[in-house]
Amino acid sequence: MPPVLDALEVVTIGDELLLGFTIDTNAAHLARELGADGVRIVRRATCGDDAAAIAEAVRDAVERTGAVITTGGLGPTSDDNTKAAIAALFGRAMYFDETVWQGIVHLWKSRGWPGEVPESNKLQAWIPEGATILHNRHGSAPGIWLEDDQGRWVAMLPGVPREMRGMLADTIRPRLAEKRGARAATVIRSRTIRTTGIGESALHDKLGDARRGLFGLPLAFLPGWEGTDLRLTARGLPASEADATLDRAEAELRARAGDVVYGTGDDDLAAVVLDLLRARGWRAAVAESCTGGMLGMRLTAIAGSSDVMLGGVIAYHNQVKVRDLGVSEADLAAHGAVSEAVVRQMAAGVRARTGAEVGLAVTGIAGPGGGTPDKPVGTVWLAVETPDGARTSLAKLIGDRDEVRRRATQGVLNLLRKALTP
Ligand code: AMP
Ligand code: MG
Repeated sequence: MPPVLDALEVVTIGDELLLGFTIDTNAAHLARELGADGVRIVRRATCGDDAAAIAEAVRDAVERTGAVITTGGLGPTSDDNTKAAIAALFGRAMYFDETVWQGIVHLWKSRGWPGEVPESNKLQAWIPEGATILHNRHGSAPGIWLEDDQGRWVAMLPGVPREMRGMLADTIRPRLAEKRGARAATVIRSRTIRTTGIGESALHDKLGDARRGLFGLPLAFLPGWEGTDLRLTARGLPASEADATLDRAEAELRARAGDVVYGTGDDDLAAVVLDLLRARGWRAAVAESCTGGMLGMRLTAIAGSSDVMLGGVIAYHNQVKVRDLGVSEADLAAHGAVSEAVVRQMAAGVRARTGAEVGLAVTGIAGPGGGTPDKPVGTVWLAVETPDGARTSLAKLIGDRDEVRRRATQGVLNLLRKALTP
């Protein structure tokens, strides 16, 4: 059966991938780039540099889907077995291609490398009979396109990500577009709507029947420390129709989710908050205990934040809370450092001492030690004070020390976002 051209499989090859020393960025890149063209990766596999394993993985993919891209194993060393293994699978002999060899010699000379091309590079000029050679303008190993009499094909690309990307753009995408003809007019497009300050399951329930998708677009819930992202995906539609359907679905999701939505795509909550402050002409300062500067880092990581962000105090020890923020020693003794009274005074103190219109404060128990039955690890008090008044919030956060600190930082930014959003 000839391949359907909207679906393909990826086989990434290399012992380093199986050992976990190299992260398989090639597979992710292929999925994103081809997805944008309307071609879905329906399955992916990874195998080591062993010829039998390569042949087995590729044979299964050819039989199932008939359209396969491999990466890796095209180099000049003895662990590079991809071409020979797949040529054998297709029943093709290998021949020495003089033109490819002259290209490798030319590349060597034009780069001004000393001496003659090493003998081992000759391996890269051995090509399966009947293959199409895919030019590689970023390196010496050409890619190979091998197709059988039923139209089933395997495209072999180098493993080096930069070379793989170049060849995908130069040769594979145009070839696929040509093969797909009118079908190539359809795309796969996703849109991410970012929410925070609500649990995944509560958000799920809040969306009602939209949780199963909208206007034929499936919906994915992607929880993380920043919040839960909602991802809508349009498949197999012309670009303009995909965008229009995504727009309608996004509007509907925003209406249902309400004020937990803070952005789309890769919007950063810190940038959203800075924009809200800038719109009012307000400046901010931070008072941080358990986050130890992470809140300041989030805000100053956004380029151009200096018109809004004044600075802050890392008040990790109680002595600093008292001396530099004016927190009452009596309240520290009576309520503890992780308390509403203290966080409120931290926000007020940093605001007063810096002259900022807005003070943000965090104090909590990041763990792993320091928890008590009534204040377990993950207990965090958050506060913001603005010219309109103060708000506090008690958060019960999950995760290890790093995650509690990141969630606390996100939490106080969200408290301020809500205070600034009518
Ligand atoms: P190769 O073409 O197999 O000789 O691969 C050359 C180099 O590319 C390897 O040493 C890895 O560092 C890198 N590489 C290979 N496959 C991948 C992959 N799937 N994702 C990211 N990097 C890769
Ligand atoms: Mg390799």
